[in-house]
Amino acid sequence: MNLSCYVAGKAITSDQQLVLKNPYNGEAVGSVALAGREQTDAAIVSALNWREPLTRFQRSQILEKARQLLETRNEEFARLITAESGLCRRETRYEVGRALDVLRFAAMETVRDDGQIFSCDVSPQGKARKIFTLREPLNCAVCITPFNHPLNQVAHKLAPAIAAGTPVILKPSEKTPLTAIKFAELLYEAGLPGPMLSVLLGAAAEIAEPLVKDDRVDVVSFTGSVAVGKRIARTAGYKKLVLELGGNDPLIVLDDADLDLAVTLAAEGSYRNSGQRCTAVKRILVHRRIAEEFTLRLVEKTKEYVCGDPTDEATRVGTVIDEKSAIYLETVVREAVAAGGKVLIGGGRKGALLHPAVIANVPRDCRMVVCESFGPLAPILTVKDLEDAIAVANSTAYGLSSGVITRDLGKAIECVKRLRCGTVNINEVPGYRVENSPFGGIKDSGLGVKEGVVEAMKHFSFVKTFSLPW
Ligand code: NAP
Repeated sequence: MNLSCYVAGKAITSDQQLVLKNPYNGEAVGSVALAGREQTDAAIVSALNWREPLTRFQRSQILEKARQLLETRNEEFARLITAESGLCRRETRYEVGRALDVLRFAAMETVRDDGQIFSCDVSPQGKARKIFTLREPLNCAVCITPFNHPLNQVAHKLAPAIAAGTPVILKPSEKTPLTAIKFAELLYEAGLPGPMLSVLLGAAAEIAEPLVKDDRVDVVSFTGSVAVGKRIARTAGYKKLVLELGGNDPLIVLDDADLDLAVTLAAEGSYRNSGQRCTAVKRILVHRRIAEEFTLRLVEKTKEYVCGDPTDEATRVGTVIDEKSAIYLETVVREAVAAGGKVLIGGGRKGALLHPAVIANVPRDCRMVVCESFGPLAPILTVKDLEDAIAVANSTAYGLSSGVITRDLGKAIECVKRLRCGTVNINEVPGYRVENSPFGGIKDSGLGVKEGVVEAMKHFSFVKTFSLPW
């Protein structure tokens, strides 16, 4: 599969090619003709020159048509995501399903007007007027996406931008660009005018960095690591910023928990998507009274997560994104073991395949649980009570999401109030959401600006008010 970057709907030609290899078997998956500085400028200019705003109906039709096209090609997309990311078919089919939801909700939201009316005769200072609000598109949005959900992350940026009527330049991850480009082609096919979307890949100094710094860009919407997100915050200058960054989410298991549920959610939260979700369970904080029983059961449960060839229907955990990442995860496991942790199952590595691992007695200060470990690891830390669990949960630099397993409503409410993060899910994994609900973190995980279709449409538009005598 030989693909190209697109400037304003036109495929570019280039001598510079990015070749993509399958993380599982090293076979070539495809290539992309890369862009340079000249195309970066051309993409910005074409977005700024776009002067034929689409009606709400037209935008909604394009999104709905894209959804229908994706539905007919769901297996093709799932296979492509598997080939370039190493994620198993269970995950990539699920991901296509999520992207279909994003398109569905975006098409619905496009035709919903959130305008408000404020009567002015409501105070001694007021008078007989009314103030109305309406949303207008921005001139140019830049969206930068990570590798871990090659389709859904892209859909979560492009669909709300299209819904808002804002021309957008996408810079997808160079680890998974094929899915992103195929999705862009699908949007063009669905009727999206070329100038509404450009897709650029190439050296950071030629593409990502100039896009971030350019004063003509109104908003940079970035999802990725803390390090790159903070760099963007330092260099972006005067423009709107949406930063959705890393996570280190706790799953708190209290001593009144339904243990079957706790074990299922711990395994799903830790191993789904090869543990590469920003909201994956990255620390399991278990009440010491039930820790032994919970641990035994989680080890048993982990045996169900067959790790291997991502195209095999029986596989439940494919590779992580590349061998380098798998080696890093191996290293943090080794460090935890050196500090007193114990690997009870898994942890073996072959290339980019890392077998799901349960690690018990993990010290609170080791790198595996202080930083983000982006892979299928289930580190167990014991806590002595609710106070201790909340303190440990809040102790890292991150604040994306959390899960709490308890039957006690009072304790659940205490957690909702006191966990310093963007989401608290009771009796669910931290990653639970629907595609139109607000989603996003605080602290190092983000600026507290939410995504999800409804919120994201607000990033890609601004509110204008006008008033009339009434
Ligand atoms: P990453 O290394 O930060 O890369 C993300 C994107 O930033 C890629 O497109 C990358 O391009 C680009 N980039 C690299 N250097 C840049 C620069 N100097 N200026 C602008 N952009 C630059 O992240 P990743 O490894 O792909 O993704 C994993 C991370 O994303 C994890 O930390 C995960 O938790 C986080 N994440 C967060 C959320 C959330 O909603 N909070 C969701 C998903 C993932 P290249 O690929 O070309 O380097």
